[in-house]
Amino acid sequence: MSSKISRRNFFNKTMGLSAGALFFKSIPIFGSSAKGITPIIVTSHTNQTGQMAMEAGWRILADGGSALDAIEKAANVIEVDPEDTSVGYGGLPNENGIVQLDSSIMDGKTYNAGAVACLENIKTPSSVARVVMERTDHVLMVGQGALDFARKWGFKDEDLLTEKARKIWLRWKENMNENDDWGPPDHLKNLQKKESYWEGFPEVEHHYGTTNVLAIDKNGDIAGITTTSGLSFKIPGRVGDSPIIGAGLYVDNEVGAAGATGRGEDVIKSLASYYIVLRMKDGRNPQQACEDALHMIIDKYRKVNPDFYPGEKFVAINKSGETGCATMRGNRTPAMSVRTSDGYSKYKGKVAYPDK
Ligand code: ASP
Repeated sequence: MSSKISRRNFFNKTMGLSAGALFFKSIPIFGSSAKGITPIIVTSHTNQTGQMAMEAGWRILADGGSALDAIEKAANVIEVDPEDTSVGYGGLPNENGIVQLDSSIMDGKTYNAGAVACLENIKTPSSVARVVMERTDHVLMVGQGALDFARKWGFKDEDLLTEKARKIWLRWKENMNENDDWGPPDHLKNLQKKESYWEGFPEVEHHYGTTNVLAIDKNGDIAGITTTSGLSFKIPGRVGDSPIIGAGLYVDNEVGAAGATGRGEDVIKSLASYYIVLRMKDGRNPQQACEDALHMIIDKYRKVNPDFYPGEKFVAINKSGETGCATMRGNRTPAMSVRTSDGYSKYKGKVAYPDK
């Protein structure tokens, strides 16, 4: 059960290179194509793994590869990171301690999509979603059926619950309800406080966390992936927005692409990614379109609960390679990772409803 892969080993194993070598190694740059198209890849992940993912995806685009191959490669880098508790392997489990993954992929060129939900045991759900898209006439497969399907296509069963995620889950269980029987017996309660068993594991609330990867290749074809372990400690069987085409992800080759992270329930009801793409089609730039979607959601809630601001973050790109990123609330400027022929950068977006 315990993960023997250290973060350093993970990076080396995944990339076959040290992080330093990766960031500074010169990669053949494709740049703008004859058609005036500038390849680009972005992800909502801005940590080191997000940067590694961008380099992996960019290498494919720089070699003239497809947006589809680039986003899958990049998403896989994030999915197999054992330290990331929001996506793939190492993701936080459902309330029974089982990791259930949701993922979707959409190909703007073919207007095709594939998705899996409540998928257990497979580290790279976005690759399974791609097989659903490319090798079946279906869009969404769930649970045991999705797992059986993945096995048939050669995906290997693995334990997705890392030691870190298991401990966070147990910590949550011990704290979730004063009236249940999880936690130390009464006579041990004071004693346990002095022990260091939970050192480094503070009180745990539900966590959101997901990644979106969007790209445009040299032909101007656009593709996207959204992949997640979903809301932590969710009721078994709960499906978020990530595998719902139009909610957690949408791609239109003529317009651009958008992806969502955060409270999936609101994203499903608003079909936010589809809405963002529609706004871009109407002439809004990606930044404006992301903010439009957040305002649209809050406009609905204003009527029922004026104080409710669901935690959401949207990212988008348009066909011209412009980027956008917005979160619902808080004081931290939302950001996303961007990789083009100009190198890696972080795009800073906007908080739609900043805390006063
Ligand atoms: N949107 C995901 C879900 O609701 C979680 C997240 O993005 O944090 O499952």
